[in-house]
Amino acid sequence: MKFNTVIIGGGLASLVAGITLEKAGKSTAIISTGQNALHFFSGSFESMEEAPQRVTDLFAEAGIQLHYNPGVRLMPMGTFRKSTLSLEDISIFPEPAIGHKALIVSFAGYHDFFCQFLAEGLQKHGVQCSIKLLNLPELEALEQSPSEMRSVQIARTMDRIWENVVREIRILLRDEDTVILPQVFGLKDTSVLSRIRQGVPAQVVFTGTLPPSVPGIRTQMLLKRRYELLGGIYLMGDEATGAHVHEGKIHSIVTHNLGNHFLEAENFILATGAYFSKGLRSNPFEICEPVFGLDVEQAAERSDWYNPEFMREQPYMKYGVATDATLHALKGGEPLRNLYAIGSILGETRPELGTGGGLAIRSALAVADQILKPTEE
Ligand SMILES: Cc1cc2nc3c(=O)[nH]c(=O)nc-3n(C[C@H](O)[C@H](O)[C@H](O)COP(=O)(O)OP(=O)(O)OC[C@H]3O[C@@H](n4cnc5c(N)ncnc54)[C@H](O)[C@@H]3O)c2cc1C
Repeated sequence: MKFNTVIIGGGLASLVAGITLEKAGKSTAIISTGQNALHFFSGSFESMEEAPQRVTDLFAEAGIQLHYNPGVRLMPMGTFRKSTLSLEDISIFPEPAIGHKALIVSFAGYHDFFCQFLAEGLQKHGVQCSIKLLNLPELEALEQSPSEMRSVQIARTMDRIWENVVREIRILLRDEDTVILPQVFGLKDTSVLSRIRQGVPAQVVFTGTLPPSVPGIRTQMLLKRRYELLGGIYLMGDEATGAHVHEGKIHSIVTHNLGNHFLEAENFILATGAYFSKGLRSNPFEICEPVFGLDVEQAAERSDWYNPEFMREQPYMKYGVATDATLHALKGGEPLRNLYAIGSILGETRPELGTGGGLAIRSALAVADQILKPTEE
């Protein structure tokens, strides 16, 4: 199997690069072992101090509406955090204040939304809170087994019965100016979010739950669908285990499922994430990149990897694969001529590209542009 570009990793960075290349007519394949950081996504992209039209268009074409609105968002514990570019689920406030009286609504038997902590946190910001748990017959089947009462399972039901929730809230609402709901709406149909906002005669704020994140899973599904509709091949549940390298260039990738059928390409992009997704691994002696054995920027002494004060910033979180100016990955100090690294596997080795979601998007677009640049030969 031969492609213009093979991308290893199935998260945000990989999908942004894959969509950009497919749109430009390049044949691509994505190999992904599975879960990625989007499944834990808050709904706000870190380090996006601006929102280029190109980025909002890319997401809009996938059915994801982003809004750029610098301010703060409400966190699950009733605190506030700075936010800029966000999904439509996320309400942004100019300052850490949401109103005077809030009704926090959740569901009987659902333990992944911390109403009490949320109320206590908001009370410190002068918001008077009351909590109501809805007993919905449609959730009874899930309630039989506590392991089923998870955000995504509830979200599947909510896509059908959100109007019942709106009706219940209208009955409960007294003089509250704000209604706070867990982020368990609009898994498949995002119009549900605005319809709930229209149906409730108060400000509605959707707030984070324990993972998996419903807005994150929706984002992953929509980006993946857009990529596949453009013609991309997404090899779900496979793992890149090694590569054939010849004279400083990758020739092909070996994967667990394809065995002797190697994936050949002109370009390769490594987007396997950091420790969380196993794009970086550590042992007592070093931090390494397991697919190609690339150079990883790290302190030589293990004692310098971490700060013994657990809650402090940890140096190892900044380590990442070493790259040259054009994001070609380095091995033995030399760039591999057709292998690029993007996303969180870069750690904070390229501060000019930002962190988190901002790093994933910027590095993915930068590498896609490199690949699409006409060659001078
Ligand atoms: C728990 C968590 C929550 C976060 N929340 C936010 C947030 O709210 N906002 C924000 O801006 N940033 C957040 N981040 C930062 C996040 O890392 C980036 O936003 C971004 O999603 C990273 O995307 P990525 O594609 O680089 O890596 P990842 O999302 O980690 O994806 C890497 C992918 O590579 C796959 N993979 C790994 N090894 C192989 C292999 N050998 N073969 C094939 N596939 C492989 C993994 O299965 C995974 O699919 C969060 C990070 C974590 C860990």
